[in-house]
Amino acid sequence: MLPKTSFAMVQTGVRMLEGRDIPIPDIDDNSAILQIEACGICGSDYEQYEGHLPTPYPAVPGHEPLGRIAAIGDKAAKRWGVDVGDRVAVETLIACHNCPTCHDGQYQRCGDLRVYSFMPTSYSPGLWGAYSQYMYLDGNSIVHKMKDSIPAEIAVMFNPLGAGFRWAVELPQTRLGDSVLIMGPGQRGLASVIAARQAGAGEIIVTGLSADEEKLKLAKLFGADHTIDVEVENPIQRVKEITDGKGVDVVIDLTPYATRPIVDAIEFARKGGTVVLAGMKGYKAVPDFISDKIIGKELTIKGASGVTSSGYRAAIRAIESGSLPLEAMHTHNFALEDAETAIKTLAREIPGEESIHSCLIPGF
Ligand SMILES: [Zn+2]
Ligand SMILES: [Zn+2]
Repeated sequence: MLPKTSFAMVQTGVRMLEGRDIPIPDIDDNSAILQIEACGICGSDYEQYEGHLPTPYPAVPGHEPLGRIAAIGDKAAKRWGVDVGDRVAVETLIACHNCPTCHDGQYQRCGDLRVYSFMPTSYSPGLWGAYSQYMYLDGNSIVHKMKDSIPAEIAVMFNPLGAGFRWAVELPQTRLGDSVLIMGPGQRGLASVIAARQAGAGEIIVTGLSADEEKLKLAKLFGADHTIDVEVENPIQRVKEITDGKGVDVVIDLTPYATRPIVDAIEFARKGGTVVLAGMKGYKAVPDFISDKIIGKELTIKGASGVTSSGYRAAIRAIESGSLPLEAMHTHNFALEDAETAIKTLAREIPGEESIHSCLIPGF
C-alpha cells in the first residue's frame, strides 16, 4: 500500500527550499508512481536554486530520478515493459510523442516539452520532481530498466554518464582513434572521458583549473592521456605539442560561466574538427570571439542540451557492466532534508567540501 503523502523538498523562491508533504495522486491506465531510491544533483539544480532558470514556484526540483515502480497502470506497464517493483531510470523530459519533431526522433526538441523538475506543484497532479520520496510518472515518460545489483548512488549516474555519451561521442560522431579534448573535469567531463574511451577515441586531453587537481587525477583514472592545468600551463601551446601542431578532432566545452574556453576551443580544434558546446555561460557574450576562424578551419560547432534515450542506454550498459571504477567519482550521499546542503556543496559554498558526483537518498 502506498502512503497518502510523499515528503518532498519544495523550492518556494530564490535560494529557498522547504520540506512539505504532497499528496500521492491516483494513477490511471497510462501513468505510474515511482518510489525514489536516489536523485542525482546536477549543475542545473544550482541554477534553478539561484533563480537563473525561468522555472515556476513552488516546484520540486530534481531531474535525475532512479527508483522502483510502486504502482502502475496496465497500459503504462505494457508500453514501458515494466511492473511494480522494477527498478528504473527516468528521463526528465516529457515529450508529446505525436508531433512531426517527435516522429523524426528529435523528441528533446518537441514543442510541447515538459521537464519533471520545472513543473509547479499547482500543475495537476502535483507530485513532479525527484527531491521527493515518491514521484508521479506521466504517461509520456521514458523509463529504462536498471539492474538491481548496482548500488543506488552508482546506478543514478545514468544521467551524467548519458550526457558523456551524447556530448562526447554521439553529437561529434567521435570515431576510433579520434583525439578528444574535454574542457572541465566535473562529473560531466569525467563522464565524457569514460564515453570517449569506450568509443575507442585516441588521445584524450582534459583541461581544468588548479582547484580541479583531484578531478584531473580522476580523469586519468578513467582513461585521459593528458591533463592540463590552464592556470599553470598555456593550454594552446600544450595541445599543439601533443598533436604535433594539428589540433584535436573533437573539443567539448563543459565549463560553466567562463567564456574564455569558447575562444580556446576554436584554437584547440584541428581544421575540419568539431566543437561541442555544453557549458552554459549565463547568456553572456563571448569577448575575443572571432567567427572567421570557424570559416578558415571549416569547423562544425554543435550545441548540446540534455541527454536522449540512446545516450542513457549506453550509460546504463556501461554502469551495468561493472567494469568502471565509478565509485571513485561519487563523493556525497545526502538525505532528502539536506537538499540545500547538497546544492551548496556542489557549488563550492561549503568550505572544505568538494563534490564531484553526489545524490539525494530518501531515508539516508
Ligand atoms: Zn542534470
Ligand atoms: Zn512532440
